Amino acid sequence: MLENLTDRLGRVVKTIRGQARLTESNTAEMLREIRLALLEADVALPVIKDLLANIKEKALGEDVITSLTPGQALVGIVKDELANIMRGGNSAFDTAGQLNLATQPPAVILMAGLQGAGKTTTVAKLAKWLIRTQKKKVLTVSVDVYRPAAIEQLKTVTAQAGAEWFASDISQKPIDIANAAIDWAKKHYFDVLLIDTAGRLGIDEAMMTEIAGLHKALKPIETLFVVDAMLGQDAVNTAKAFHATLPLTGVVLTKLDGDSRGGAALSVRHITGVPLKFVGVSEKIDGLDPFDADRMAGRILG
Ligand code: GDP
Repeated sequence: MLENLTDRLGRVVKTIRGQARLTESNTAEMLREIRLALLEADVALPVIKDLLANIKEKALGEDVITSLTPGQALVGIVKDELANIMRGGNSAFDTAGQLNLATQPPAVILMAGLQGAGKTTTVAKLAKWLIRTQKKKVLTVSVDVYRPAAIEQLKTVTAQAGAEWFASDISQKPIDIANAAIDWAKKHYFDVLLIDTAGRLGIDEAMMTEIAGLHKALKPIETLFVVDAMLGQDAVNTAKAFHATLPLTGVVLTKLDGDSRGGAALSVRHITGVPLKFVGVSEKIDGLDPFDADRMAGRILG
């Protein structure tokens, strides 16, 4: 088990207790511990660098050392900084943990991501969440014309979610399937249409061209990038590549029930600027939670 930041800082703070205030030199040791803790949590280096600069400024500016529990005071500063980054500051456009459905129905949500990220599972989880908490009528469709099994999988999990599934098959073109699903959704008064797209094992040009074309034609209100938290630093690289081709409106970080500390959330948000909207917390159909910056900050620090 990794040592958590509170314990790490507790150790350091003990050695500097009795000194009247934080100085450049005794802060350096604490910053080193914070740096190590963030590295272990898989936070990307450039993000750590920015963070440490902010933390240092705040720690030196506040009377951390004279507080009754300096270790906790410092952890508080670090936690606030992490949460702030993931919340996107106080920007008016911040939609972390929120989904935008304000459009003429159906609200089209395009799901993107690599194969195995948890895309299809997330479509079903999201369908269930929309039905349960937002009282929406939800339709799902798969435009993965490369893997018939993926279409079948979506059919099964959609039924588990209590949503409706629009049939498609591999002889069709993705754009034709999507347009037919939109027509069906309009005719039958669905509030939301979730589109599951093809995932590949790695990023390839054909895949990117296809999904970018779909995006351009369909103009979805939300384009969610689904990424496995266990990927750590690689999550940032894939998110960057997708965001460069496809304007993402949100990220869903899956498999947070695994061992990962979730540092990917911080890195993806800081580097791409795309807000985190949901986290996957189990394999089960109700294992999806709206993203909560404070909770994630606590998890990253251990
Ligand atoms: P896709 O290829 O991106 O559509 O991925 P799938 O939806 O098929 O998911 C791949 C695997 O990850 C499946 O075994 C899912 O059950 C699993 N999975 C997806 N999300 C989560 C999650 O949040 N937690 C856990 N433990 N497993 C998940």
